[in-house]
Amino acid sequence: MATDLAKFAKDNGVKYFMISFTDLFGGQRAKLVPARAIADMQEDGAGFAGFATWLDLTPAHPDMLAVPDPEAVIILPWNKEIAWVPANCVMEDQPVEQAPRNVLCRLIDEAAAEGMHVKTGIEAEFFLLTPEGDQISDPYDTAAKPCYDQQAFMRRLDVIREISDHMLELGWNPYQNDHEDANGQWEMNWDFDDALRTADKHSFFKFMAKCVAEKHGFRATFMPKPIEGLTGNGCHAHISVWDAPGDKAKTNVFAGAGEGQTGELGLSERGKHFLGGIMKHASALAAITNPTVNSYKRINAPRTTSGATWAPNTVTWTGNNRTHMVRVPGPGRFELRLPDGAANPYLLQAVIIAAGLSGIRSKADPGKRHDIDMYAEGHKVKGAPKLPLNMLDALREYDKDKGLKAAMGDEFSAAYLKMKMQEWNDFCGHFSDWEKANTLDI
Ligand SMILES: [Mg+2]
Repeated sequence: MATDLAKFAKDNGVKYFMISFTDLFGGQRAKLVPARAIADMQEDGAGFAGFATWLDLTPAHPDMLAVPDPEAVIILPWNKEIAWVPANCVMEDQPVEQAPRNVLCRLIDEAAAEGMHVKTGIEAEFFLLTPEGDQISDPYDTAAKPCYDQQAFMRRLDVIREISDHMLELGWNPYQNDHEDANGQWEMNWDFDDALRTADKHSFFKFMAKCVAEKHGFRATFMPKPIEGLTGNGCHAHISVWDAPGDKAKTNVFAGAGEGQTGELGLSERGKHFLGGIMKHASALAAITNPTVNSYKRINAPRTTSGATWAPNTVTWTGNNRTHMVRVPGPGRFELRLPDGAANPYLLQAVIIAAGLSGIRSKADPGKRHDIDMYAEGHKVKGAPKLPLNMLDALREYDKDKGLKAAMGDEFSAAYLKMKMQEWNDFCGHFSDWEKANTLDI
């Protein structure tokens, strides 16, 4: 039986619910609802004017109702009288097809109908900046190779420990935390889970990291490249497919020695074809996994001060080697290293499933494995597509990929392309310091 949120509030001393949904640009929108009103809201949803968010709706549209998913409710570990609950958007009793959580739920159902249950783990890197957001928060964190820096870690222990404590309390099974490759950058890892659960946790993690950072007088950002010259914020996804959801999962469908170069690394035939789908649709799915103007400052970037970008620029795959777009680190799973911190948590999972399903249905071949250092020898690879160089190229690739557009949903794809093209045009109307510095005297 579904969790009764009114009873949940009474049992747990919850005074308010934050009913939250995520728009097309990845923005989290919420209403704070007193527990006395939650019973009605659980049934009917909380009302929003969709046009006021990044969805392709007009001011004339009727109320959009965000109906909470009671199984996904989380009590804020840092404010236990408030519970956050992600919601599915509905309008006039119909799901809003373009709403990201609805897109993901539909694709999960499609995969389940074919006996596939995608599980993912994500690595959501972030920076701790000053509140103004223009520099890292620790002025002493200046090493050229700051990754795993023990002393810099201790200067931000209060923040990282607090977030880790919260994840322990929530039962997410966090297992490691580290200072990442850029000055001021962090990574915290927790166990992989079903795609929808990972998307909800990913959303909540971003919210939690920002809240805890603000409490300590800092600003957490997942922006793909917040500081010029330093390594950017990736959001690598580790992907496997199982025979059943949740605790019922017994068999990893990706595990097993299939044929060819993927089989040598312990991927089954279905694993190979799923990977084939990701490779085939890579340039188009970048419009989702790398969704902002700034995303393209991380991929295709010049070498950073640490010596490597840790981000791909070409559609290639390999074994346990971090210089490619896809790494197969061990049997039964692979890591997609393309996504960045701006990726919408729901659309990220959705596009992985959409591309992977398409690959399985068409028995897609991932192509040749390149066991080389792509940062040093990438120029030797012939025939592999380069990833899009900017957001406009990515949107055009997405628009050209009819199969992926249809798999993500025609209504969603049309809305996404329209809103993102508006964003691109808005960006193009903006004048940068670089233009003045380089062309004022021409
Ligand atoms: Mg990392």
